[in-house]
Amino acid sequence: MTHQAAIRFPWEDAPAPGEAVEIAEGVLWIRMPLPMALNHVNLYALEDGEGWTLVDTGVHSAQAVALWEALLAGPLAGKPVTRVLSTHHHPDHIGMTGWFMLRGAEHLTSRTSFLMGRMLLLDVEEAPSPEARAFWNRAGMDPRLVAKRSEARPFNFADIVHPLPTGYTRLQEGGVLRAGGRDWDIRMGQGHAPEHVTLWSRDDNLVIGGDQLLSSISPNIGVHPTEPEADPLGEFLEVSRGLLEHARDDQLVLCGHKLPYTGLPVRLRQMIDNHVSGLERLKVFLAMPRTAVDCFPQLFMRKIDEGNYGLAMAEAVAHLNYLYQRGEITRRARKDGAWLWQSGR
Ligand SMILES: [Zn+2]
Repeated sequence: MTHQAAIRFPWEDAPAPGEAVEIAEGVLWIRMPLPMALNHVNLYALEDGEGWTLVDTGVHSAQAVALWEALLAGPLAGKPVTRVLSTHHHPDHIGMTGWFMLRGAEHLTSRTSFLMGRMLLLDVEEAPSPEARAFWNRAGMDPRLVAKRSEARPFNFADIVHPLPTGYTRLQEGGVLRAGGRDWDIRMGQGHAPEHVTLWSRDDNLVIGGDQLLSSISPNIGVHPTEPEADPLGEFLEVSRGLLEHARDDQLVLCGHKLPYTGLPVRLRQMIDNHVSGLERLKVFLAMPRTAVDCFPQLFMRKIDEGNYGLAMAEAVAHLNYLYQRGEITRRARKDGAWLWQSGR
């Protein structure tokens, strides 16, 4: 059959705060609110005999603590969380991990996620670093925004992430994890976050995708001041093509945001194609020299406001770094220091 299944969402409604929905035998779907434009994150609890293995935890806040206490006493049936698995180091996933560790949970994640999480937690900045300001300038950020952001206290990881005790159990590419009555193949994602854990059940059709395998929104692929020459888009495309070999139409993908879905092969191809066509549009647009910020309309084809400006800038630089590192565009510094990118050699 050449018929290709579309993307489907078996559950129309997400669980309400403080509630859990059994999405498969021994697997609960939980949602936590987030104080940002993307206002929720999906978490999953895998039943492991006397306790639970929790996949991701949401941000740390007074509200989150209250919700978790209600969940532990209610839907989680008074059983302890014995293990917390962080798919990646972002605050909406790792925020409450340390809170559970203080209550006896073991932390499972990739080495890079652990190191990134620990580093960012310790790296508290009262003002934007010179590296961050240089990065904004290179990207051609609107000078009014540069001035505004230079005066504000920057967002700090520690603002919404509970302190993370040292010590963790490493999950590695090619390994197998036993949890929720299933054996899961561990495959590392890249691009959205370095060494992002994904889990593929050997025993049924479940895939835990975190933010690597999102459904109706695309994961942000961004370059940040910590590694301004990074090529996360190259890594994302390579990993997505590799994961296609393991993707099947019948798999139910438990993702980090929006609704769980089936149709992973279609979804992976969509994500690859969207970035490839974005790169093609940029190459044409860069017949004339432009900054990263100049590329917003070509790349996103929707309005970028102050709320999503930072993520848009990170993603625009990711696309430009991709083309630059493959010799498809050149760059030179404008008088004010902004990179001007241009097609051709
Ligand atoms: Zn993320």
